[in-house]
Amino acid sequence: MISWKSPESLWLSQIEKVQPRKTADRDMHFDVAIAGGGYSGLWTAFYLKTVDPSLKIAIFDAKYAGFGASGRNGGWASTLFASSLTSMAERFSKSSAINLYCELHNSLTEIEKVIRANDIDADFHKGGTITVARNSSQLKRAEDTVNEYRNFGFDTYSLLEQSKVIERINVPSAIGGTYTTECARIQPAKLVRGLANLVEEIGVEIYEKSLVSELSKNYLKVNGNKVAADVVVEATEGYRCRIKSSRRRTIPIYSLMIATRRLSKAEIETVGLRDYETFADERNLIIYGQRSNDDRIVFGGRGAPYHFGSEILPKFDSEESIFNLLEETLYDLIPSLRGVEIEYKWGGALAVPRDFLSFVEYDGKSYARLGGYVGDGVTTSNLAARTLADLILGRSSSLTSLPIVNPQRRNWEIEPLRSIGINLGIAGTMRKDKLENQGQDGDLVTKFTDSLMNY
Ligand SMILES: Cc1cc2nc3c(=O)[nH]c(=O)nc-3n(C[C@H](O)[C@H](O)[C@H](O)COP(=O)(O)OP(=O)(O)OC[C@H]3O[C@@H](n4cnc5c(N)ncnc54)[C@H](O)[C@@H]3O)c2cc1C
Repeated sequence: MISWKSPESLWLSQIEKVQPRKTADRDMHFDVAIAGGGYSGLWTAFYLKTVDPSLKIAIFDAKYAGFGASGRNGGWASTLFASSLTSMAERFSKSSAINLYCELHNSLTEIEKVIRANDIDADFHKGGTITVARNSSQLKRAEDTVNEYRNFGFDTYSLLEQSKVIERINVPSAIGGTYTTECARIQPAKLVRGLANLVEEIGVEIYEKSLVSELSKNYLKVNGNKVAADVVVEATEGYRCRIKSSRRRTIPIYSLMIATRRLSKAEIETVGLRDYETFADERNLIIYGQRSNDDRIVFGGRGAPYHFGSEILPKFDSEESIFNLLEETLYDLIPSLRGVEIEYKWGGALAVPRDFLSFVEYDGKSYARLGGYVGDGVTTSNLAARTLADLILGRSSSLTSLPIVNPQRRNWEIEPLRSIGINLGIAGTMRKDKLENQGQDGDLVTKFTDSLMNY
């Protein structure tokens, strides 16, 4: 069972108290039955119902729409994708990589369009992303990013010199960085709850406190009841590993977040982020931040351990050592914040496929699965859902030939290899950052730990 007891996020505290919707308490039949009420499930329902209003669609969520990563994330609606353009080109083709990136761009535009057309108040603001480089290895990565996008024909990233970085965000240790317009800051819980209301308004049924305990072609068992459906969609992302047939398809990796108290006008003025840019630096272990609408700095990062057997427990949402690390990292990055109280701490699980490639899988008649977004699901889930809607409706489109459609799959290793490999990988990434801060690029140990995550 997924417990209700997770530490309240800033995002949840900013919306009306969640009142659970109706619960599945009888046998039912639908055209499409979706397990999971996050962005993936909701966007899938939205596009199916918009194109074919006659479809009878239901979403079942074990807790409530937005309980998972969709209600807790860092609020970057970006065009980032977990596999780089270069690795996509190597694995598929240059044109596949280009098409995918163009469709991610269109998805960000699409999210904004739907939000505006339906008055969803999600604090959407497209102020771009500033990524800071603080040592020579990081600066090299910043240059590589700009060049990589240029090589694929995109001028969406530009290199910034030190003073231009500091103009946008007061990171005194910055030596340079990049800026891209390709990101909007959102309030994730407002987006997911707004989306849930929207799909309900257009006639999709949402059942909450409705645990799907079995999931197969044409059939779901929900709270012990039989739900028959022409098409079953698995949209459970971080929790996918609990489904027998998908157990090793993705692993849950925890990302944790903190939020400061509201900053005064003078304090926020010192930090910068005047255009509500999302921000990060070029370290290997991912960190991400945003300025919220009420002038807090909201900041998150990886580093929490992977738990043996892909276990997911509410207590993993808070790892005090990682919260402390995040706090210290934030103060180190933006020293003017040192001493500012942290008011919220929370976390959640995201899903990582073995090859880091997000997927939309459909067997052509009765079963579909979408996800594996790593930490970039806000925009990618919209792309995946529109793609899945086209596949289910039998519409051939520019989306249905994307490399995320029915990719060759490779499952994660069995335990204990899996947990040993992943945790060594995390430790190796942290070590690499430490070495880079000391002016070294890495060593034999980090080469070895890097190789563990290759596929
Ligand atoms: C802390 C954190 C920060 C992140 N930051 C960003 C970011 O800034 N930008 C970005 O692009 N991405 C970010 N991500 C990733 C992004 O949030 C996710 O990729 C995205 O929200 C996934 O949406 P989803 O609908 O697929 O899954 P989820 O939102 O996790 O939804 C899955 C739903 O399935 C339900 N469920 C699970 N099992 C069952 C079951 N058996 N029966 C019924 N229901 C079930 C859950 O209750 C949940 O509501 C972050 C993730 C985390 C955890």
